[in-house]
Amino acid sequence: MAHEDLEAVYITSPVSIAYLTGFRADPHERLMALAVRPDSATLVVPALERERAGANPEQAPVLAWRDGEDPYALVREALGECARLGVEKEHLTVLAAESLRSAVGARELVDVAPEIRRLRRTKTAAEMEKMARACAITDSVAEEVMQGLRPGQSELELAMRIGAAISACDAAPSFDTSVQSGANSAIPHHDPSGRKLEAGDLVLFDFGAAFEGYCGDLTRMAVVGEPTARQREIYAVVLRAHDAAIESVRPGVTTGHVDAAARHVIEAAGFGEYFFHRVGHGLGLEVHEDPSLDPRSNTVLETGMVFTIEPGIYLAGWGGVRIEDDVVVETGGCRVLSKADRSLRVVRSA
Ligand code: ZN
Ligand code: ZN
Repeated sequence: MAHEDLEAVYITSPVSIAYLTGFRADPHERLMALAVRPDSATLVVPALERERAGANPEQAPVLAWRDGEDPYALVREALGECARLGVEKEHLTVLAAESLRSAVGARELVDVAPEIRRLRRTKTAAEMEKMARACAITDSVAEEVMQGLRPGQSELELAMRIGAAISACDAAPSFDTSVQSGANSAIPHHDPSGRKLEAGDLVLFDFGAAFEGYCGDLTRMAVVGEPTARQREIYAVVLRAHDAAIESVRPGVTTGHVDAAARHVIEAAGFGEYFFHRVGHGLGLEVHEDPSLDPRSNTVLETGMVFTIEPGIYLAGWGGVRIEDDVVVETGGCRVLSKADRSLRVVRSA
């Protein structure tokens, strides 16, 4: 990490702690932190997490506090007196900042969050193995659910099936599963409802499995009964945009360039105003992380970056189409990690 001039760094976001130490936990409202000094790193955890936090002898030594005790006494023990302290400003509460001031005399807080996010953008070989596994599980769940699709199933029922299929693979959902049918597919943030699949529906599935914390993220589409000409047309445009974006990915180009590659295709087909989100987002320990692939973004792609490609067209009252895959930047281009059937799957309506 740069900021060599810092006396100490105090990391509190569970994702950063997982990234830096391999210890994954959700402490809820309790204090959990990684306290780093030039010569030491200490995990301060709730007593509930002591056992798991200390399980790996390679890991940082652990200080555990019990409910009713003052965790900042342990923070003080780990950090000592420290006037200038690196913290994650997006995660540290004002209350925690005030407590640090009185516990360790931190008068100046320096934001190290952007640097940690930057480190996380490019994946190591060990991380890539987990990403690939997450994507493979996600692919198999997609196939299983597509094969079981029938008219009359509700969005909620399908979301539950996806959840059960992910669990059966010893994985966890990366995020709340999205199943959107008929006109609901045009609403980008729609929670699964009791609406049942019927003839003519487009059905959008957006979900992912996380393996050892690393997230897959996939969107696939089905149609109940033979697709109409318009459904076929819009699906074909989105698929062309998706392929154009993937084609454009290589080290040295910017994230904005990749967004533009998809956007040009959709604009040329006359649907520009109906593609109203970015083309993709970074993926890893979090389902949305750096880099963001939006129209104004200019992050230069590097090998090892992992992100989604997910153009979409949404026509209110009619329905929406999105196709999402996960890619890793490699020398000369990219490799698509998700391999689930990319076609518009047709469900027999009778
Ligand atoms: Zn998604
Ligand atoms: Zn996504």
